[in-house]
Amino acid sequence: MQFVDEFRDPEVIKQTAEEIGRLADPARHYRLMEVCGGHTHAIYRFGLRDILPPNIELVHGPGCPVCVLPMGRIDDGLSMAESGEVIFTAFGDMMRVPGTKGSPLEYKARGTDVRIVYSPADALKLAQNNPQRHVMFFAIGFETTAPSTALTLKSAKALGVKNFSVFSNHVTIVPAIRAILDSPDMRIDAFIGPGHVSTVIGCRPYEWIAKNEGKPIVVSGFEPLDLLQSIVMILRQLNQGEARVENQYKRVVPWEGNRAALRAMAQVFELRPYFEWRGMGFISQSALRLRDAYAEWDAERRFSIPGVRVTDPKAAQCGEVLKGVLKPAQCKLFGRECTPERPVGALMVSSEGSCAAYYNYEHRKCGVGAA
Ligand code: SF4
Repeated sequence: MQFVDEFRDPEVIKQTAEEIGRLADPARHYRLMEVCGGHTHAIYRFGLRDILPPNIELVHGPGCPVCVLPMGRIDDGLSMAESGEVIFTAFGDMMRVPGTKGSPLEYKARGTDVRIVYSPADALKLAQNNPQRHVMFFAIGFETTAPSTALTLKSAKALGVKNFSVFSNHVTIVPAIRAILDSPDMRIDAFIGPGHVSTVIGCRPYEWIAKNEGKPIVVSGFEPLDLLQSIVMILRQLNQGEARVENQYKRVVPWEGNRAALRAMAQVFELRPYFEWRGMGFISQSALRLRDAYAEWDAERRFSIPGVRVTDPKAAQCGEVLKGVLKPAQCKLFGRECTPERPVGALMVSSEGSCAAYYNYEHRKCGVGAA
């Protein structure tokens, strides 16, 4: 535990928070977006907002893959399982995400064969153990999880497992950042860059953010000191009028990324021309689909899916929260109609969702009903 302890040392955290206080210009308001849902979770969990100067505003970004998935895709995935021929498999954090006719867990309660897996390889093994059934893996995640899906598909092909398919909902982070920067209602001074995704893609894909948009971006780890150090690095850049990509998370993130993982992804996936993101609409080249060489394992080609666009419930403001326009507690449903026990939107379900993080670490300490 020595490694984690170093990044949670109270004395060093206090000194770093004091440095932030010295660097933050009181005449200025800073809006820093943490792109990654894991960062949002860490910020609330460790109470970092409480030790930052009030003029440093942390804006939550779209880096929770479960949260950005539109409801129609959940319906599409579950529609395949309704026939009774298909075993629907997904990670546990998908299980309580509402579709229009219920979450995967609610489908399971009604008799649909829905199973939690811990990896796509588990889903493939399930297919091998049940040759008379078809196993569909509901793949979700950014570049962080796409390589393991790619490697599983390569195994399925090499082994000739034909009763297995993948419903790909993998998305890519850079087009989402571009969409945020293009959004007229957003003003962001700098980005706390995603830690998990960057272990795969590295730091180079962010260079345009600094070069073309003039915004600093610092790829950060997930411990309290990681995040505070990243804020120090951002403030130094802003104070010096610079915009660069910096890597605070060097102990995990290689500048060039993980070449083997990128190669596996490139062999199996190609970019979709466009893909719908919850609250952000269609973003071009922002998601991955299977290449023709893997058509036999592509659930979208093997099964007919409704492909219907479904809008969120009218009062739900998931889109505004996802884009950082509203804080979780500013949604009309927050803490009332929408709670972790009875979620209306995915942001209240996933551990990386900003509404769930805010509810569990801020709202509960204020008492139910407080905003
Ligand atoms: S409180 Fe619920 S409905 Fe509102 S933004 Fe969060 S998840 Fe969506």
